[in-house]
Amino acid sequence: MIRVTNVHKKFKDLEVLRGVDLEVKDGEVISILGPSGSGKTTLLRCINFLEKADEGEMEIGDRKYSLKYATKKQKLEVQRKTAMVFQLNNLFANKTVLENVTIGLTVVQKMNKADARRVAVRYLEKVGLGDRLSSYPAQLSGGQQQRVGIARALALNPSVILFDEPTSALDPELVGEVLSVIRQVAEEHITMVIVTHEMAFARDISDKVVFMDGGVVVESGTPEDIFLNPQKERTVQFLQRFR
Ligand code: ADP
Repeated sequence: MIRVTNVHKKFKDLEVLRGVDLEVKDGEVISILGPSGSGKTTLLRCINFLEKADEGEMEIGDRKYSLKYATKKQKLEVQRKTAMVFQLNNLFANKTVLENVTIGLTVVQKMNKADARRVAVRYLEKVGLGDRLSSYPAQLSGGQQQRVGIARALALNPSVILFDEPTSALDPELVGEVLSVIRQVAEEHITMVIVTHEMAFARDISDKVVFMDGGVVVESGTPEDIFLNPQKERTVQFLQRFR
């Protein structure tokens, strides 16, 4: 289980996170919704130590971390347990699809090359790219590149995968294939936190939906709670835009 408490983050005078709590149980899929600028991406980046929070604690399983004071060793430990899938995947342009997935396994996890290849192929097959192992990222569509990013995250066997708007940079016709891969991953009860603007997808896939606005969690609940019976005016207004 992952529990994040009281996350605060400012960029200069801009208070982006104002005391956010988040709890994700093992195997749960949580979607974070909210208007642009509400702090969703920053929250994921603080959890993954890509940003240093000004305040906040995190528990992953029986381990506890300060989001502000964590040591380098603790940050590495967290980064091994959490895998990010970004808006546009930062794949290595000069490495093949296969190498993009094996590199984390051989370098970070010290796996030998043969094992890394076996694991990478398994996950690339899972995302439907078993026939593109020796392609380079530029030879793939945006949707295929995102699927490589998902395979790379899965291959690391993390405690949680953090998806940061995984389809928002894609052409509309490529969104479906990426969502369907994420859906397939969710069915395997892999713990996931997904920042998304895809409302129908979030409603369908999530065990819990969290609505953020202005750097706070405004409300959270089951998809039914949030989509059919929102309690807060701000949630109602936000959801109306997607009707
Ligand atoms: P969301 O993901 O909900 O759209 P973000 O977390 O990306 O929101 O951004 C929240 C606010 O923080 C925005 O106003 C954004 O411009 C600002 N912000 C994000 N990252 C930085 C940064 N590195 N430096 C300065 N401001 C930032």
